[in-house]
Amino acid sequence: MRPGDITAAGAGLLSCLTCGLLSQPASHEEDANACPRCGRRLHVRKPHSLLRSWTFLVAAMVLYLPANLLPIMDTESLIMGSHSDTIMSGIVLLWKSGSWGIAIIVFIASIMVPMLKMLAMLVILVAVHQGVSTHCHDLARLYRILEIIGRWSMLDVFVVAILVTLVQLQLLAAITPAKGALAFGAVVVLTMLSTMSFDPRLIWDSAEHARRRPHG
Ligand SMILES: [Zn+2]
Repeated sequence: MRPGDITAAGAGLLSCLTCGLLSQPASHEEDANACPRCGRRLHVRKPHSLLRSWTFLVAAMVLYLPANLLPIMDTESLIMGSHSDTIMSGIVLLWKSGSWGIAIIVFIASIMVPMLKMLAMLVILVAVHQGVSTHCHDLARLYRILEIIGRWSMLDVFVVAILVTLVQLQLLAAITPAKGALAFGAVVVLTMLSTMSFDPRLIWDSAEHARRRPHG
């Protein structure tokens, strides 16, 4: 698809987000149409998509700080006494104990991937706001990648669970999740909600607006 190509919305058709059926709306009122096949309410675009997507993203970005700065687990052991670990100090602990591979996996899954997901969503939202006329395909592809990763989102949390287990095995200690773990879980969920709230068709709408806008 290219900017300027005819869209379903442009042709007066609505598509169903649940079953994918494209249909002619019976009423001209925005909220009055339901999918003739599955009955879901039809909208031209996901309602308040940008606002919701921005809200979830900003909340995720704010919580990313406590997720990394607050201890993610409290450790209680006979040898080392009690202490707290952040995600990063847990990774350092794994690295120092010789589990380099696992330290790298945990670093990628729990620090890099969540950050890259938020950055990618930020790039898409800023581009749509500013009106993209080029790179629509790249943005759409980026969003698709985010969607695919989103299905595996709980992997981030799972990796932290592995981290906790490993540290527990190595120290023979009792470990309880701390506040940072809650913030981290919230970051993962909020980023996922931000991605889900976004309507990728807005990329093409934005391109269409930019194309129609007179130059200069
Ligand atoms: Zn439907």
